[in-house]
Amino acid sequence: MRFTSLGSGSSGNGLVVENGRTRVLMDCGFGLAETKARLERAGLKPKDITAIVVTHEHDDHMGGVARFSLRYAIPVYLTRGTAQWLPEDFPAVLVRYIDSHTPFAVDEIRVDPIPVPHDAREPVQYVFSDGAVRLGVVTDLGTVTQHVVEKLSGCEALVIECNHDLDMLMTGPYPDALKRRVAGRFGHLSNADACHLVQALDRGKLRHLIAAHLSQQNNTAALAVEALARGAGCEREWIGVARQDEGFDWRDA
Ligand SMILES: [Zn+2]
Ligand SMILES: [Zn+2]
Repeated sequence: MRFTSLGSGSSGNGLVVENGRTRVLMDCGFGLAETKARLERAGLKPKDITAIVVTHEHDDHMGGVARFSLRYAIPVYLTRGTAQWLPEDFPAVLVRYIDSHTPFAVDEIRVDPIPVPHDAREPVQYVFSDGAVRLGVVTDLGTVTQHVVEKLSGCEALVIECNHDLDMLMTGPYPDALKRRVAGRFGHLSNADACHLVQALDRGKLRHLIAAHLSQQNNTAALAVEALARGAGCEREWIGVARQDEGFDWRDA
């Protein structure tokens, strides 16, 4: 199983997990042409995507889902709460409802949803597996729950939100209400939150640790890397970063 990010951050997200001929696109926050171009960079065509799994309705995750799905007839997996944000005339034949606590399979990839606290209708994050190794991806959560810790424990690969440095957020340009939202219990993980999450995990099998969903205004890659390295007790060189423009290259889980 391998995985790549098409881009990560508040301007758009997309991550591809591949096992054999099955490829799952987790979220699509980019327009049609942009998604196509980013897939091409990863050596993929739109038709190579088997399914889209959606985390929640925010534009940076769902903004490009309906059009991409319609254009290439790709099924969309999402909770009923998130599905309320599909266009009214979206064809039912492309919709696969999921339960936020029940694992499901997309051909050769097993997908395990994790409910998370975030200011959306029914948000989830995901753990992907080929039966041998597991990749956990969590962005967009305001609080780390014990359930999140349990689901991410023992994974071979982790992509974890490092949204902001709390000092940069609080002294930065955001209006007060937005600062409170981002730092709140249903907002986003700070670098320190991500560090504590990694510390709390069983890291026995961990081989990939990647910082994601970094705020362009309120964080730097160096601070995020530092936080995850501290959490994992490892060298900084070992930590990857998912960028808004480039995402990150394929990695073998
Ligand atoms: Zn987001
Ligand atoms: Zn969100």
